[in-house]
Amino acid sequence: MRVISGNPEATIDRSKREFLRAAMALLAGLGLPKTSLAGGGRHGAGGSGQRVVMVVFGGVRRAETFSPQGLVNIPHLSGDLLPQSLFYRDARNEGVTAHFNAISSILTGNWQRVDDWGKLAPTTPTLFEQFRKGLGAAQSDTWVVASNKALTNLIGASSAADYGPPYGANVVFPKQLMVAAVANALRAGRSRNMADREKIEAELQSMLEAGNYEGLGWSVFDAAERLDPRVRATIEEAITSFVRSGGPTSGDELTFLVSREVMRKFSPRLLVVIFSDVEVAHFGSYAMHVGGIRTGDRLSYQMWQEIQTNPEYKGRTTMVVMPEFGRDPDGSTTNGFFNHRGDTESTRGTWMMALGAAVEKPQIVERPIRHVDLCATLGDLLGCPPMDTQGARLKELRG
Ligand SMILES: [Zn+2]
Repeated sequence: MRVISGNPEATIDRSKREFLRAAMALLAGLGLPKTSLAGGGRHGAGGSGQRVVMVVFGGVRRAETFSPQGLVNIPHLSGDLLPQSLFYRDARNEGVTAHFNAISSILTGNWQRVDDWGKLAPTTPTLFEQFRKGLGAAQSDTWVVASNKALTNLIGASSAADYGPPYGANVVFPKQLMVAAVANALRAGRSRNMADREKIEAELQSMLEAGNYEGLGWSVFDAAERLDPRVRATIEEAITSFVRSGGPTSGDELTFLVSREVMRKFSPRLLVVIFSDVEVAHFGSYAMHVGGIRTGDRLSYQMWQEIQTNPEYKGRTTMVVMPEFGRDPDGSTTNGFFNHRGDTESTRGTWMMALGAAVEKPQIVERPIRHVDLCATLGDLLGCPPMDTQGARLKELRG
């Protein structure tokens, strides 16, 4: 049992619930345009025909996941997916254990040491850029959908010469877009059929202005402005139906639903989904952190099920699931599971699971691998030209 002072769970839960209730009421009368997109859009001709879906958790320790006492938190990963997977028991983050750098390192195959809060792009080309430049793939073929507020649009392309944004991915932050959609609805005053509209609007306005949605500092910014209009319409539609459903209230649920919509509308060949409900750990709630692990476990499984039933993906897709890093050990001077700053086994040691087309036979690999090994491996699966990275190609995944 862990003692938590100030009961942040109650505060965050109430804030989230109130936000969603008010947003639902506001958006209920808002008719967003329907998109008329059919099929997968245009794709470049090059490549192997293989698809890659990468699912990245935030920071989770081995202790709460693939350990004897942790398995209870990941019934789908351990029970449904492990038996058919290629499982690397020891996948190591040897770089900076902060979100933007960790994701950048995974996506570039080089340990990145840029700004922790995404103010600077990775310095070497991302997998998106290599894929698009090397094979002429369209932007609609490469996506990042992320819950993590420590990321910015700069996660989609590097600052490397001859690469950069012209070859970058679509980057979408559904939670920010939801907040933005609500703010726009407030400004436009388009809601109707609400007895207590003024009260709700005032409530929402104060939450947005305080930037305390979920108590996590979300604020409205121009993410949506940078998206292609048809992309934006698709996302807004998905967000509206999420809000209208009044059902699941987790940021990762929204990220999953938007990712699934992106798969159905655009069928990208390279999709990166970044969940971060587990990062509620920074507020000190162990119960909510474990709840985030369970959500990520379930959503990873739902993602795999979508791949199995979506004809654009079935039979030719490799899905990988991995955490960005672990978290600090109990009893550490950095407050244990709250953080991920320690140079410790608990913080650096994670795991990686691969499923699908590139998996020849299910097996558990004991040999340690590094997060930077993934980029060149996935690039090879997609048919990219050889890449110059710090990582090594993982030979167990067949091209
Ligand atoms: Zn964190």
